[in-house]
Amino acid sequence: MAFDYNFYLRENHLPHIWCPGCSHGIVAKGIIRAVHKMGWEKDDLVIVSGIGCASRLPGYVDANTLHTTHGRALAFALGIKIIKPYLKVIIVSGDGDALAIGGNHFLHACRRNIDINLIIFNNKVYGMTGGQTSPTTPFGSFTSTGPYGNVEHELDPVAVGVAAGATFVARTTAYHVMQMDKIFTQAFEHKGFSVVDVSCDCWTTYGRKNAMKNPVDMLDVYRKKCVKYEKYQELSDEEKKEHIPIGIFHRETRPEYVDELQLIKERAMKELKK
Ligand code: SF4
Repeated sequence: MAFDYNFYLRENHLPHIWCPGCSHGIVAKGIIRAVHKMGWEKDDLVIVSGIGCASRLPGYVDANTLHTTHGRALAFALGIKIIKPYLKVIIVSGDGDALAIGGNHFLHACRRNIDINLIIFNNKVYGMTGGQTSPTTPFGSFTSTGPYGNVEHELDPVAVGVAAGATFVARTTAYHVMQMDKIFTQAFEHKGFSVVDVSCDCWTTYGRKNAMKNPVDMLDVYRKKCVKYEKYQELSDEEKKEHIPIGIFHRETRPEYVDELQLIKERAMKELKK
């Protein structure tokens, strides 16, 4: 799709702070393409973030943007959507921001089914602060706070999202750009809370410690290991250990939070008038 990315960017806020080779730019462009495909007006778009490398994205996009406190982006986003339901709300968050500091907000946003979109830039590490172990750091891998190997088992945002009640849950990667575009568009079209887990790379603080010396090595892992969710179901247990499922894992229709609040408001007003 050919169009002018600059229309959606605050050029006076560039250059960005991301390291050369970081895949955050790939994901950011995917979000912009999906916004463009949806035909959303910039004035109707809100992008909210917490803290971390991914959370710098709202600074670069020419829309209504909010850079909030660590882990609290969902709380701010819920408030915005409740007060102005006509706005299209996207949250960009890293794995630490969304699942550790913001883990509690994540669970409750999923079960409330509010019509906003959470995109998790899952680089498996706290990149901005020097590569500390995050909730999604793979077991046994090396980080600045786990120099002898991570002893914790990683949290799967997809499994947690489904279990907590999110009505659209998907995983894609910064390597699978065409699939990423489709999934973002489907998430934005979905009425309800959508979670898209995007596996991306932090080669500077994570890759180099884990035998992936450059950004290409990191993306190559996704090329080799990822299989479509449907195909993954057919693999043996042994084969599953070597692969990462990608695609849409869950999609359902359920009453949406702001619509339900509106009904409650109408019921309460009727009661008051009696
Ligand atoms: Fe990207 Fe990692 Fe650099 Fe952050 S520290 S900009 S996640 S490569």
